[in-house]
Amino acid sequence: MEKTTSYSLPPLPYGYGDLAPSISEEQLRLHHDKHHNAYVVGANVILEKLDAARAGGTDLDLKATLKEFSFHVGGHTLHAIFWKNLAPAGRGGGGTPSGELGEAINAEFGSFERFKKEFSAAASSTEGSGWAALSLCRMTGRPIIMQIEKHNVNVYPACAILMVLDVWEHAYYLDYKNDRAKYVENFWQIVNWEAIAKRYEFARGT
Ligand code: MN
Repeated sequence: MEKTTSYSLPPLPYGYGDLAPSISEEQLRLHHDKHHNAYVVGANVILEKLDAARAGGTDLDLKATLKEFSFHVGGHTLHAIFWKNLAPAGRGGGGTPSGELGEAINAEFGSFERFKKEFSAAASSTEGSGWAALSLCRMTGRPIIMQIEKHNVNVYPACAILMVLDVWEHAYYLDYKNDRAKYVENFWQIVNWEAIAKRYEFARGT
């Protein structure tokens, strides 16, 4: 992987209009180009502040700076995962997970339908702005569902994030207004299970 000294906005792995009708072109363009980009810019601004303070020997309010840094880096990281775990419906998006990921979900939740129900409920009920995430707990080997508030609260350090769903209002308000549950329902049409299975294999070290 190429080394960089700052963060950059990754391009989407599909066209802006390709996730419609689950996510419209206008909604996706705004979300990626404005909202995601703002976290990239915000994180880089803090890197510059840290560099300048270190070079000049000046003190920073580290508590406030690091909190803001984790917010922006968390936002950038989660969005980068989110775009990759989506694909156009019927062209890589939708359906159910197969292989070892499918087996792990069935073993943990009893069935895919039960997992879908729990994940949807987690996404619909995340307080305020946040995310639902499927992750793998490396200490137990069990898949778990997390609710992440903002971008950085309730993240479990031992868990590898496999799949995320952005439930900030900026992710769906143009298309769904206040109907987050409908957005969550339509999300299932554009889930890229192949990409998520690859993250699962990587997390397990297989
Ligand atoms: Mn977002």
